[in-house]
Amino acid sequence: MRPVMPPSPNGLRFERIVVPTPYDVGPANVYVLLADPITLFDCGPNTPATENALMLGLARIGISPQQIGQIVLSHGHPDHFGMAPRIRELSGARVFIGRHDLPKLGDASMLVATGKLLLQAGMPMDKLIEMGERERGLGDLRPEVPGAEPLDGGEVLRFDGFELEVLHLPGHTAGHVCLFDRRSGVLFSGDTLLLDISPNPLLEPNPLDPTERRRSLVEYLRSLDRLSALPLTRVFPGHGEPIEDPATLIADMRLHHRDRTEKLATMLDDRGKSGWELATELFPTLEGFDNFLAVSEVVAHIDLLIEGGRAEQVVSGGIALYRRRSGKESAAGEVAFGTFDGARQQG
Ligand SMILES: [Zn+2]
Repeated sequence: MRPVMPPSPNGLRFERIVVPTPYDVGPANVYVLLADPITLFDCGPNTPATENALMLGLARIGISPQQIGQIVLSHGHPDHFGMAPRIRELSGARVFIGRHDLPKLGDASMLVATGKLLLQAGMPMDKLIEMGERERGLGDLRPEVPGAEPLDGGEVLRFDGFELEVLHLPGHTAGHVCLFDRRSGVLFSGDTLLLDISPNPLLEPNPLDPTERRRSLVEYLRSLDRLSALPLTRVFPGHGEPIEDPATLIADMRLHHRDRTEKLATMLDDRGKSGWELATELFPTLEGFDNFLAVSEVVAHIDLLIEGGRAEQVVSGGIALYRRRSGKESAAGEVAFGTFDGARQQG
């Protein structure tokens, strides 16, 4: 095999292949780790255009799909895992994914549970149906991935010349994993850190109890704390260009979430509003899948207000309503905000 990247002093060798996706987020990144065993970190969605781009990309770097020994998936979203069964068929590669995202691979039950959560958030049934139809129109984007094996975080993937730590960093999804090369400070971040896009804290069932909703943003902000403590130099995300200044990006993300939380705090009243009502107030002109993103965004930030003692949930007619918790400018609230923005405590 001809060398495709000059070996760096730390030994980490990889190439990026950019593949198209049918989603608004745009193309996705597939990282090819060029050492034995040849490994893909993410593999793009299950579409003919992606397969074509991936095969051409592999050919460009001198790899045949049959040489791929393993596929590590950052998380269980179709733009990242869809091509896994096809590559497995060609190569016999092992497939790994964070344990809590295993149920998302080709299993409709998590989608049904998510639909129930959206109805509880007040999304009208016709909007939910419209969203499902749009996705179905895009093809078989959620193929089954038989035999996928779980990662818990803390594992070390050993390659010829370097090793990568598996970090379980929940937030964008419950089982999201990133790969970290401690020697060089390079992180493969999946959708946990993205340049110019705030990774959406998606409304998602708790994988251990699908009738419960995960508190995605609470988990995500904790994951940012863990990332801040790592000696990151460059970050290679699941979409878009590399992140050259991860510390600033992480600080900006915290500010973004704080601002959005404060904005939502001003929108609450004493009567209570559903996630859907707040989402349509905040983002009035959305359609299709964007409705899901908007409701997710709202509910995730309300979780922070609840954690801070500034909002509370009441359930009315099967729908969760959020209302202001008056007279509770409590110490608890300040502490909770301090955990995701230390700077605020000084102000
Ligand atoms: Zn993605």
